[in-house]
Amino acid sequence: MDWSEDSVETRFIQPYEAVKIYICPGCGRDIERGAGHIVAVPRLAPDLRRHWHKGCWNNRANRPPVR
Ligand SMILES: [Zn+2]
Repeated sequence: MDWSEDSVETRFIQPYEAVKIYICPGCGRDIERGAGHIVAVPRLAPDLRRHWHKGCWNNRANRPPVR
């Protein structure tokens, strides 16, 4: 999956919007309910959107996704 800036649209999920638990592809750990985070939507494959911790998203170039 190409997570470069040009290939995805990102949106910040506010804490009140975070009502489900997601697995962050950057670290493989949970994003807890109520935690603000990033959702990244590939322009060519919107179904493959993933939720990321903000820190993991910003650091993805240095630490490639684990899943
Ligand atoms: Zn993470």
